[in-house]
Amino acid sequence: MYDIAIIGAGTAGGSAAVFAAKAGKKTIVIDSGKSMTKRALILNHYGIEEIAGPELIEIGQKQAANFGAEIVQDTVVNVTKTENGLKVEGESGTYEAKHVILATGALATLAEKIGVNTKDGTEPRIKTIVDVGLDGKTNIDGIWAAGTVAGVSVHTIITAGDGAKVAINVISELNGERYVDHDVLKN
Ligand SMILES: Cc1cc2nc3c(=O)[nH]c(=O)nc-3n(C[C@H](O)[C@H](O)[C@H](O)COP(=O)(O)OP(=O)(O)OC[C@H]3O[C@@H](n4cnc5c(N)ncnc54)[C@H](O)[C@@H]3O)c2cc1C
Repeated sequence: MYDIAIIGAGTAGGSAAVFAAKAGKKTIVIDSGKSMTKRALILNHYGIEEIAGPELIEIGQKQAANFGAEIVQDTVVNVTKTENGLKVEGESGTYEAKHVILATGALATLAEKIGVNTKDGTEPRIKTIVDVGLDGKTNIDGIWAAGTVAGVSVHTIITAGDGAKVAINVISELNGERYVDHDVLKN
């Protein structure tokens, strides 16, 4: 049983995975390899002068894996409730988790299929988004959403920050107290 299963390993899902795995939560990231970020040349990401989208994604996934996140290539087709949590069904495997974060980018089809409430998008070319609260919670207990699919502005630094924000909220819920991740410079 994973603490957190993240569906989508773009900037939102990847950054959620970094925070979740670094906090010691058993984390799996399931991705179908269709990140829109793979087409981007990014010149506006704070702290990075220039980076190609595929490289940003690759570094982020490596960072998450270094903290212990499992990253698997699969397309998730269903998420259902079980007695203990949630069952995530992929085309190639099944994964059980206490919490699920939907970070599926421009694709809201999975959210619609599993009964998560959606609404019209407001960003250019993003037709449908998940209806989430400020904390990233959907209408289904244990299912959260972050990034473009949650209606966040379609920019890497914003979607990455939103993935981190939602992961911090999930970690806080698992820990039963507000979570802060601060590392300190050594002299
Ligand atoms: C051409 C182009 C240029 C861009 N240029 C810039 C730029 O210069 N600066 C900038 O800030 N932003 C830019 N962006 C926007 C940026 O890429 C996005 O805002 C942001 O990174 C999206 O992050 P995300 O994690 O929400 O979605 P994505 O990066 O799209 O990731 C979503 C992931 O979810 C996976 N997924 C979806 N459904 C499933 C499923 N059922 N099962 C498993 N996995 C699934 C997909 O395969 C994908 O990998 C650009 C976008 C495009 C298309």
